[in-house]
Amino acid sequence: MVRELGKSNSVFNQFLSEIRDVKIQQDRLRFRRNLERMGEIFAYEISKELPFEKKEVVTPLGTAHMEVMQQQPLLATILRAGIPFHQGMLNFFDHADNAFVSAYRKYDDDEEFVIKLEYVSSPCTDTRILIISDPMLATGGSLVAAIKGLLEKGMPKEIHVVSVLASNEGIEFLKKTFSKHQLKIWTGAIDDELTAKAYIVPGLGDAGDLAYGKKED
Ligand code: URA
Repeated sequence: MVRELGKSNSVFNQFLSEIRDVKIQQDRLRFRRNLERMGEIFAYEISKELPFEKKEVVTPLGTAHMEVMQQQPLLATILRAGIPFHQGMLNFFDHADNAFVSAYRKYDDDEEFVIKLEYVSSPCTDTRILIISDPMLATGGSLVAAIKGLLEKGMPKEIHVVSVLASNEGIEFLKKTFSKHQLKIWTGAIDDELTAKAYIVPGLGDAGDLAYGKKED
């Protein structure tokens, strides 16, 4: 149900180290590109679990008996930090349909926040293999709100949640909320703590700001 890619050593961990590194992460181009490269690796790993079917492919010299994906997944992401990560997955699932959701934390004066979901642009999600990406699975609030928004468009047959970093709290919240769904969580690493402002520790900081610059709260 939960796959932690960083547990087995691969070049993935090089990319993850670079986006965590307080100095290297200042290079925005590298930060975005690393998110994209990790999206590509997740797409490759997830593809191994998708249904395949036989196909005869005519080559210039004969016929090759191949196995190809039965259907392309529906790729969804949450604006804005999800964009480079999503692009990585789209590089590999290059015929996929796409969905975009805007969800953000609205803080009050006591530093408490609620999740605001304002925009859901998606095709019908019925019977689809839905892969939703968000680099940081902290409390799980944005992802839960985003998935609920997408479930209003139909009932996917599988939901894959993909994050670069996750907290146990966020994972448990997702599992509990979608216990009746076919849900699988993919992450690079599970970190121990959340700060009072619900940032992952050691984490990497604010993924959206690192990719695109600081925003006004
Ligand atoms: N969003 C981020 O960008 N970073 C965190 O640590 C948590 C949520």
